[in-house]
Amino acid sequence: MSKTKRFILQENEIPKAWYNVIVDMKNKPLPLLHPETKEMLKVEDLEPLFATELAKQELNTTDRWIEIPDEVRDKYKNYRSTPLVRAYDLEKALDTPAHIYFKNESVSPIGSHKLNSALPQAYYCKQQGVTNITTETGAGQWGAALSYAAKVFGLELAVYMVKVSYHQKPYRRSIMETFGAQVIASPSMTTRAGRKILTDTPNYQGSLGTAISEAIELAMQTPNCKYTLGSVLNHVSLHQTIIGLEAEKQMEMAGEYPDIVIGCFGGGSNFSGISFPFLRHKLTEGKEVRLIAAEPASCPKLTRGSFQYDFGDEIGYTPLIPMFTLGHNFAPAHIHAGGLRYHGAGSIVSQLKKDNLIEAVDINQQDIFKAAMLFARTEGIVPAPESSHAIAAAINEALKAKEEGKQKNILFNLSGHGLIDMAAYDQYLSGDIRNYELPDEDIAKNVSVLEKIIK
Ligand SMILES: *Cc1c(COP(=O)(O)O)cnc(C)c1O
Repeated sequence: MSKTKRFILQENEIPKAWYNVIVDMKNKPLPLLHPETKEMLKVEDLEPLFATELAKQELNTTDRWIEIPDEVRDKYKNYRSTPLVRAYDLEKALDTPAHIYFKNESVSPIGSHKLNSALPQAYYCKQQGVTNITTETGAGQWGAALSYAAKVFGLELAVYMVKVSYHQKPYRRSIMETFGAQVIASPSMTTRAGRKILTDTPNYQGSLGTAISEAIELAMQTPNCKYTLGSVLNHVSLHQTIIGLEAEKQMEMAGEYPDIVIGCFGGGSNFSGISFPFLRHKLTEGKEVRLIAAEPASCPKLTRGSFQYDFGDEIGYTPLIPMFTLGHNFAPAHIHAGGLRYHGAGSIVSQLKKDNLIEAVDINQQDIFKAAMLFARTEGIVPAPESSHAIAAAINEALKAKEEGKQKNILFNLSGHGLIDMAAYDQYLSGDIRNYELPDEDIAKNVSVLEKIIK
């Protein structure tokens, strides 16, 4: 009997609404707070920064399903559904009884899951007459996705790109410029935030926190301009649930239900996307399913961070978010998974972690690339270093299943391909990839300066 390898949905089966998990959470996340007044945040507070519809989604705790606009669904159809793939060859290489499935978000035109939120964010801005948008990007995946989305919906985009990536990953900049975006290395002299950081530390190579501050500042100074963010916030995770909602149907087609769902973890959007629709079964039907966030050992906010209110950016322009954080001044090591070098986790995921509804593991860089090599050589896809955290976690679970002699169904999200990350692979192949362990003192030092708002 021939085995089905890829499961794909018909156009009319693509989900028509995103899933808002907050509605089903018994313990809701603590509220976002205004950065200055420390009052509970209202839609009006977010409106200067974000499109109104996105501000509403950010604070929506009542609607379980939020309809995907037709214009966005139409663009989703260019690449969705993404395939759910049974990784038979990886299973064979591991000699595991586990069934390993991956959701392949790397087939999006831009090569990652980021487009799932870039399209609606650009759409909602356009719909309310916004002409310009700004954002930050780390490794360049979010900037690339938003550049394309801005072009689709006719918006001008300025991107602050973390300086180290700007130089390490010049092709991502070329992609953004191909779609017509303006790309600025951050920290830059174009904003007060950038000038302050460069004056203090002239050689600073940048961080997502700094780039966010710069992008927010530009948005506030430019007429008819909004800011957009590629992760962390609730509305971004909401848009990404399209991943798990499709996977839910595709696992049904495969005739199996996952025992374990895994996503790599930067700010939480792709992990939320793949896992929240399955968490729904756990919250509402008591279904047994383990949800695992895989983060870098060098940036371990969920496994070693502190749960408290913190800013999403370096300067403190964003709302205060109740999060697992390493401190907003945390300067992460220059690891190759640029998209995971962020100091904090979104508020929903943080609450879920606090309530033990999800698990987190941290993985070091050498294990990431080992997993990436095995995946590439078995399944034929060169994975993004970010996604390889999920692959490594899936491999660990598959090997555990083998030890225990148990058949387990493992589902992970392949958040993107690594075809523009080959410099990192070159380093690995020449034996030049090192692990970075983060000393406890560094975490303690960064976290100790945070205001204690949670008593
Ligand atoms: C940005 C990115 C991530 C990390 O971001 P999340 O919001 O945590 O999903 C992971 N993988 C890829 C390929 C990315 O581009």
